[in-house]
Amino acid sequence: TLDVLTFGEAMVSFRSAGPLQSDAAFTPGLAGAESNVAIALARLGHRTGWVGRLGADPFGELALRELRAEGVDVTGVSSEADAPTGLMFLEQRTADTSRVEYRRAGSAGSRLCPADITSALELRPRILHVTGITPALSQTAHDAWRASLGEALGDDVFVSLDVNYRARLWDRATARDVLRARVGRADVVIASEDELDLVADGAEAEAAEALLSRGASYVVVKRGACGATVWTEGGRIDAPALPVRAIDTVGAGDAFSAGFLSGLLDGLEPGQCLERGVLLGAWAVSTRGDWQGLPRRGELDLLALGAGTTLR
Ligand code: ATP
Repeated sequence: TLDVLTFGEAMVSFRSAGPLQSDAAFTPGLAGAESNVAIALARLGHRTGWVGRLGADPFGELALRELRAEGVDVTGVSSEADAPTGLMFLEQRTADTSRVEYRRAGSAGSRLCPADITSALELRPRILHVTGITPALSQTAHDAWRASLGEALGDDVFVSLDVNYRARLWDRATARDVLRARVGRADVVIASEDELDLVADGAEAEAAEALLSRGASYVVVKRGACGATVWTEGGRIDAPALPVRAIDTVGAGDAFSAGFLSGLLDGLEPGQCLERGVLLGAWAVSTRGDWQGLPRRGELDLLALGAGTTLR
């Protein structure tokens, strides 16, 4: 059985060494919020599966090869003969800001449908991790997302929802309606400070309280370089961000989510889960790539070493 099952759209990202308008070189790699989480968890030794549709093209092969190489279960991945793998082009504009151009409309990934998930759920994962990106992809992906959080999902499956609002895919009003319709099934809700209003009303404390009373056990709020907070029945716990040199902030949120879930799987206390989330977020920003620099379990303590440390 799997520790964590996740599904969504995986793409190939092309990272540009300069502005997208220039003739700078591109480096291809696997991208996608849910596959990032799956890989981060697999590196920490958790059994993880990812479900989605890829194009029958070289980019789909690249995505599948990376997932396999990272030890992610891909039994539930299917290939579309007549739709391409989604692509994104990424330009790191400054050390702290990146800009993304998507070519994902009509992609193979957006053809995800309810049957893809229901058959994968027969693997009975301990945790189902979903994001608010999937329901924005297409009607069938929305149906799949809704169905995965519906009655067919056993009560014993712990659900993690990362709000992950994508302004390029839908507007806030639509996202609000869709996410609120299912957020009650989530045991852990993860949101950035500016995403919390999509799933609950009021200031942070009030919104967290509302989500806890709707059934969540953990409400986690990410604050970028200011760290993160977890709200539980027991109250509020804060963790500052780790003081690292940020060289690539893409993927910090996904790494953070994986860290928090890894803590839950290890049976840690909420504050320790938060600390592992913050640690993984720091790893993501201080290494290049969405997930390529993330740690194996034995490397988790590396960031605590001082700057300039060489391991010999
Ligand atoms: P993204 O969408 O870019 O993946 P996000 O908005 O979902 O990011 P952030 O809040 O930016 O998520 O980052 C997640 C976590 O990563 C933060 O809560 C923090 O712990 C860590 N983090 C982010 N930026 C930094 C930083 N500059 N230095 C150290 N840790 C950071």
